[in-house]
Amino acid sequence: MKILFKNANILDVDTMTLSLGSVVVENDIIKYVGKDVPLSSYGQVIDCEQNILMPGFVDAHCHSAMTLLRGVGDDKTLQSWQEVVNPMEDSLAKDDVYWGTKLAVLEYLANGITSIEEGYFVNDEIIKAVEESGLRARIGFGPTTRDYKGSLEDFLQSQLDLFKDVDSNRIKPCVFVHSIYVTNTEEIEKCVDFSAKHNLPMSIHLSETLEEVGNCTVQNGGLTPPQYLESLGFFDRKTLCYHCVNMDKDDLQILADYNANICTCPSSNIKLASGIAPVYAMQNKGINITIGTDGASSNNCLDMFKEMFLVATLSKVSIKDASVVHAEDVLKMATINGANALGFNCGEIKVGKKADIIVVDIHCPHMYPHDNLISSLVYSARGSDVKLTMVDGKILYKDGKYTNENIDLIYKKVNEIRERLKR
Ligand SMILES: [Zn+2]
Repeated sequence: MKILFKNANILDVDTMTLSLGSVVVENDIIKYVGKDVPLSSYGQVIDCEQNILMPGFVDAHCHSAMTLLRGVGDDKTLQSWQEVVNPMEDSLAKDDVYWGTKLAVLEYLANGITSIEEGYFVNDEIIKAVEESGLRARIGFGPTTRDYKGSLEDFLQSQLDLFKDVDSNRIKPCVFVHSIYVTNTEEIEKCVDFSAKHNLPMSIHLSETLEEVGNCTVQNGGLTPPQYLESLGFFDRKTLCYHCVNMDKDDLQILADYNANICTCPSSNIKLASGIAPVYAMQNKGINITIGTDGASSNNCLDMFKEMFLVATLSKVSIKDASVVHAEDVLKMATINGANALGFNCGEIKVGKKADIIVVDIHCPHMYPHDNLISSLVYSARGSDVKLTMVDGKILYKDGKYTNENIDLIYKKVNEIRERLKR
């Protein structure tokens, strides 16, 4: 089917400019971007009323089903947060993870998030929820994925087999080494070998807290977490490292030398008091920086507008220089940089790209006047300004309504699950 978006303020993330025009989507691909309205017969015509048409956000780090634990462990240190959250996670049934992921999908779509990188622990249920939802996702598996027993190689293979029959354009696997503090050296080495054998990318929480860095140096002959992983061949793979809060310039140089990608998660890092990631220093090293929300029990809302605001403003305050990390920079992090890190052909409005598109309302008080809408997207807009979310050429959310989800059933299920977890 052909869909025409007309009268749209189209964001070009290369030049960071907006221009009025039309976009034509045919099936899952963007076929036209320009000033004209190409003559054709369209299955659907959408008048964007000069609102912003831009690529959907890529949320490069999340644990979707943690929506079930939203508000659990608030106002606690990371260690006491884990003492509350971990037992509740342990008592999650398999299909609880399905319903928690479905709740996260509602939030992603309403806030204009079209791709995610997922790392949780019941992957058949997660794959089912993501596949039904229409979302684009890279889904991780590894030694912390639930039901791991016996040989790690066999377990990793059984997890990879779950992806055999899924739409590989939209859902891809990656090897998820949760972190160096819950995964031992032998397991990390086996994950690296498996990743190399199957040509899979790898992801990890890295240098999130000072405690993690301190313990690593004590246990590994003075090596910092990036130095330790380098010694295990981790960075020889295509990697995405979450958080990277407590890294000095030598650590960052390692990530830069190996073309590692970083995902910064500012809400989670400040709520858990882990610190402020050195984003400006990462930029100066030429590292591909992406943005993630992390899970809903350390954030607590899955809104990339909030994360963009925080990446820009925390970067400024952390080095007391308001002139660094611009709105344009963080818009790239939240879109094209994320798509590149996850290996998806989306993240920009260009002919030949996958049609992952959102429309953002500019006809509301906080978006006026209209002469610097790039700034307004980062410093003024919010998730509720998203009017339409399309993934892979399909409209999944429009004017407050989902085309593909039974929200009443999802809300009922998650309330029931939470009641049960409290007991
Ligand atoms: Zn995380």
